[in-house]
Amino acid sequence: MRDKSIIAILVYNIIVVFIFAALALLFSYWWIVLFGILFMCFPKTVKYHCRVCDGCGAKGPKADTKEEALRLALIAGWTHNPLSDSDYCPECRAKDFANKTQE
Ligand SMILES: [Zn+2]
Repeated sequence: MRDKSIIAILVYNIIVVFIFAALALLFSYWWIVLFGILFMCFPKTVKYHCRVCDGCGAKGPKADTKEEALRLALIAGWTHNPLSDSDYCPECRAKDFANKTQE
């Protein structure tokens, strides 16, 4: 799906360059090609939010908003500290619990 959309964008940009190159040749000004940049299409990166573990750097479940990412992380067993805005994945929480019980 994503590969097909990138190929479609590539073909569209090639067509735009050819049209503006033809216009540049027609009017014999090279800088007309630069106006083709205005009509080009650039792929956008897909943005998502996720919580990152402060212990090991693992990423939590992906979501569209910060609140949704926090909700999904809490469902998945993550620990969130609202005072320090820190998050810990279930493995780090288990390690921390094991260390505390040894002391
Ligand atoms: Zn962790």
